[in-house]
Amino acid sequence: MAFFHARKYLLLSRSLSSSLYSSRWLHVCVVGSGPAGLYTAEKMLKAHKGAEIDIIDRLPTPFGLVRSGVAPDHPETKDLKGIYSAREFVWWYNGHPDYNNLTPDLNSTDTAVVLGQGNVALDVARILLRPTAELATTDIADHALVSLQESSIRRVYLVGRRGPVQAACTAKELREILGIKDLYVHIQEADLLKSSADEKEMKNSRIQRRVYELLSKAATSQHAHPISGQRELHFVFFRRPDRFLHSDTGVNVSGVHFEKTHLQGDSGKQFAVGTGEFEDLDCGLVLKSIGYKSVPVDGLPFNHRKGVVPNVQGRVLGDTSEHAIIEKGLYVVGWLKRGPTGIIGTNLFCAEETVASISEDLQQGVLTPSSEPLKPGRQGLLQVLDSKDVRYVPFRGWEKIDMKEKIDGSLRNKPREKITSWEELLHVADG
Ligand code: NAP
Repeated sequence: MAFFHARKYLLLSRSLSSSLYSSRWLHVCVVGSGPAGLYTAEKMLKAHKGAEIDIIDRLPTPFGLVRSGVAPDHPETKDLKGIYSAREFVWWYNGHPDYNNLTPDLNSTDTAVVLGQGNVALDVARILLRPTAELATTDIADHALVSLQESSIRRVYLVGRRGPVQAACTAKELREILGIKDLYVHIQEADLLKSSADEKEMKNSRIQRRVYELLSKAATSQHAHPISGQRELHFVFFRRPDRFLHSDTGVNVSGVHFEKTHLQGDSGKQFAVGTGEFEDLDCGLVLKSIGYKSVPVDGLPFNHRKGVVPNVQGRVLGDTSEHAIIEKGLYVVGWLKRGPTGIIGTNLFCAEETVASISEDLQQGVLTPSSEPLKPGRQGLLQVLDSKDVRYVPFRGWEKIDMKEKIDGSLRNKPREKITSWEELLHVADG
């Protein structure tokens, strides 16, 4: 499979196979060990006793976003110091080995602007605002904890281009950030006014209704001004970023220039249009959290507009055309299948659907080997890796990493102390 040739380091799972071995030829290779991949492996094993499953990953550690956090994938170039994508920031505080050197400066400003109001935006705002004594008992990377302990950031603006009814976050995550101890929350009351299109949207969506209610309640239950020393969270609606402002030296970001917006379009499809009025927000840190886009995988068809691999209920299609035919034996799951939406649990249903498609194909004989020789499965994969001189970390290597992280964590009252450099990860895995 072409798509793992590009990867330098791979995690190869231990043999996940049932003792009731009835369909020995059913070899499945799952690429990616995030929630979607692992749910798929689990459901395959439940549905097909005897299936043999290998899971490969780019990193020597499994679990994808469960370990390293979720992140937008909009590859805009950075222009100024102090501007990061939420992806970089989330990976940094989660100890992802590609981002342990990010070292965002949290010490030269008291104000951060987060662009976007989805759950990732709430995640990064919460990390900036939550008391570090509470973070210290989580598995946050140590370098991030130290930096947050020294952080001078006291005020975070969460800025959305649409209104509170359209905020992309979910109620649970919103409740969590609103519940931060001793936090001053500010929302302009005028932003909470609803149009008839908003009312209709809220009627049709329980999530939107809950989010709006929580925001309204937060808006009215606060003092007019923060008490001295209180950390502040400001929800700002109807503003779209126009450009970044920079300091006199031209090196650091000093603010964001926003255009005010209003909404147009039918209920459920309202979009933001600029009003021609502008406003600046001063800040020394900007985190861009405006969603994700999957990147194409070598050797797989890709729908660039939707950012997904074209598929029918998980069955990969040969191309994006109307008459595309199904690629036998190739399936997709997770964000690459359905686009960048949903909470972790959404992957469970997504995996179920893909596994149901595999089961159906098996039943109908689509995948049953006929006169063709049996595919070599895991042995074939190992041969490919050897022939390409690809170094991989087997499952027992991850178990060593896992054990060390847990032991180191227990010494500091944390669930684990993550290893954050490639060198150390590979050293421990080899040890
Ligand atoms: P998201 O939910 O798609 O939110 C993106 C935000 O960016 C929205 O507020 C969107 O506004 C805004 N945006 C997009 N393009 C923009 C632009 N050009 N200019 C200004 N604003 C723009 O993305 P996400 O927060 O990255 O989360 C991705 C998925 O992961 C979501 O399904 C989320 O629920 C999930 N997630 C879940 C958890 C959890 O379960 N705890 C944690 C993190 C992430 P518009 O609405 O106007 O487009």
